[in-house]
Amino acid sequence: MAKRDYYETLGVAKNATDEELKKSYRKLAMKFHPDRNPDDKSAEEKFKEAKEAYEMLSDAKKREAYDRFGHAGVDPNAAGGGGAGGGGFADVFGDIFGDIFGQGQGRGGGGGRSNVYRGADLRYAMDITLEQAAAGFATDIRVPSWDNCEVCSGSGAKPGTKPKVCGTCNGQGAVRMQQGFFSVQQTCPTCHGSGKVIPDPCTACEGVGRIKKSRTLEVKIPAGIDSGMRIRLTGNGEPGVNGGPAGDLYVEIKVKDHAVFQRDGDDLHCEIPISFVTAALGGKIQVPTLHGRAEIELPEGTQTGKTFRLRGKGIKGYRSSYPGDLYAHVSLETPVRLNDRQKKLLRDFETTLQDPKHSPQSKGWMDKVKDFFQ
Ligand SMILES: [Zn+2]
Ligand SMILES: [Zn+2]
Repeated sequence: MAKRDYYETLGVAKNATDEELKKSYRKLAMKFHPDRNPDDKSAEEKFKEAKEAYEMLSDAKKREAYDRFGHAGVDPNAAGGGGAGGGGFADVFGDIFGDIFGQGQGRGGGGGRSNVYRGADLRYAMDITLEQAAAGFATDIRVPSWDNCEVCSGSGAKPGTKPKVCGTCNGQGAVRMQQGFFSVQQTCPTCHGSGKVIPDPCTACEGVGRIKKSRTLEVKIPAGIDSGMRIRLTGNGEPGVNGGPAGDLYVEIKVKDHAVFQRDGDDLHCEIPISFVTAALGGKIQVPTLHGRAEIELPEGTQTGKTFRLRGKGIKGYRSSYPGDLYAHVSLETPVRLNDRQKKLLRDFETTLQDPKHSPQSKGWMDKVKDFFQ
């Protein structure tokens, strides 16, 4: 069978503008769309024909080729239709139907079908300790769930009454609207697509037919997790509407501040107060780690602020191959509440410190101050 001329198919003149092409295609697409002509083969053929004609003629290059060589000049099955100039079917369809339905209306939603929606995602904020984050653990959480209302058996209508057929759409769930010379279908604003209204709602569930409850869900927190990470529990969000899939549940992790350690990625930091005697004489000091105590050898004459690194005593991050390090920051503690005898000992001791070699930092500092005042 000979192919119909593209211009003839769209019912436009050879010199039709892009706007005229679009307008005409829109009209044909609305008329022959398979959603509106179920099981009508000839309508489907006409729809495909119009679609092909529009795809070809709306592309300037293809239109030029078609004008010069006819059908031999363009191949609707060619794979080259993609890319910026191609204008795939989805684009055209979305464009045209987007114009009519307005933004936000999904395609395929019309046609009197009940609307199917995916359930909403839920968020669950979980505060955990640093130890829990480092080692990982499993815990139970309570999450909302929905059960059919026992009072109305899920109908949403007060016992003894029944939902009624929606008067706005006569139970179709969709209404036909006239826009210009197009007749389009929209979800019924009264019943939101269900086709039913409940004149006397059940008081237990307020007409929803479901009651919010809670259920217990086990969550496994992997070792090394950090603040800001989330764990997805697929399908544990709100249930879908009209048989749509359930949403997901996201467990959002916040690691609480720790009394001893500060976390920086996989590394840990802690401050170790030491007496000035220990700092002066050196010796072993104990350092806390997440896995018990460790010991470090303090050299003689350790200054305040000195940092010691304990390799591998940090946290093994969720995606890390090796654990981080623990940094122990030494801070010298000034003794307080000294009695007279202790004060005297310190004064006597100080008289032995006249040689500047005992105070390398003070000496360097004094030299700088002197330079400054010259
Ligand atoms: Zn309705
Ligand atoms: Zn109820």
